[in-house]
Amino acid sequence: MSDQDPLLSAKDLSIHFKLRGGGLFSTQTLKAVEAVNLDIPKGSFFGLVGESGSGKTTLGRAFLKALTITRGEVQYDDGEVEYDLRNLSKENLRDYRKRAQLIFQDPYAALSPRMTVRDIIAEPLEVMGLTSSRQETDERVREIAARCRLNLEHLRRFPHAFSGGQRQRISIARALVSNPRFVVADESVAALDVSIQADILNLLKELQRDMGLTYLFISHDLSVVAHICDHVAVMYLGRLVETAPTRDLFAAPRHPYTKALLSAIPSLDPDNRGNNQKLEGEIPSPTNPPPGCKFHTRCPYAIDICKQKEPELQHSGIEHDVACHRWEELAEAE
Ligand code: SF4
Repeated sequence: MSDQDPLLSAKDLSIHFKLRGGGLFSTQTLKAVEAVNLDIPKGSFFGLVGESGSGKTTLGRAFLKALTITRGEVQYDDGEVEYDLRNLSKENLRDYRKRAQLIFQDPYAALSPRMTVRDIIAEPLEVMGLTSSRQETDERVREIAARCRLNLEHLRRFPHAFSGGQRQRISIARALVSNPRFVVADESVAALDVSIQADILNLLKELQRDMGLTYLFISHDLSVVAHICDHVAVMYLGRLVETAPTRDLFAAPRHPYTKALLSAIPSLDPDNRGNNQKLEGEIPSPTNPPPGCKFHTRCPYAIDICKQKEPELQHSGIEHDVACHRWEELAEAE
């Protein structure tokens, strides 16, 4: 199996939630993720971007088997085991929890203030029954703490004694202590200062190399994604609208939504400053999405067909897919 084989593969994946409506017995369906087809290559640093409300966190949670899948399937294959995430036995689910982990966004809220760093990092090992003695647990905790650049002295302290960057290293150590293959990092550097962000991103990259990890890196910050990810998928209102290797996506974005997100990144190039395609309006409610292309209410290029027919993801280059009726025309006009 090559490095590019998918670790996770989603087909027609949909996640819907039933919500209480206005009336006593009425309900609404929130389509948080709809008909997503996506492969996450083994060993990749896979970026998932979009505005708040695009469904990226829900998709990440579905890959962790933390949510019920409404429709479609997700296959996991790390070379050692193969799982269909919709049909996991209790035993396989327990094993999958060890293989798929989450790094939280907020390093301040994620750590219990009443536990020492040693106990915080050791907890997953104890809950999952992965070690058979305290000595074995301590060895594993020390090993992962060292990989995450924490020292022995840190293990005796409580989280309040640490800065944001150090707390995030504790969160990362906790997520990696079970030796997972797949890690969802959900806005994991968003709460940190820019200088600390670089330190944490370099650590994630180093750990990926040393531990053979595959990341799903969820972020609204495209400049961070450009720096660290090798593949990117762009989501809008529960749908994938564009996926590509990072270099291609940034060099030649196809979807008007991707272009608008990219043009919002502050540019240091004075020739580039006049090129901004500002993203107007708000993302519509996923309980009442517009018909046709979900982006048509904000797209400056929308025509009649966009309001009637939903575009499907289609190949626009090697590994580069886009869901827009007009992408070829728009690319020629550039
Ligand atoms: Fe814009 Fe139409 Fe393309 Fe949607 S399908 S992004 S509305 S041009």
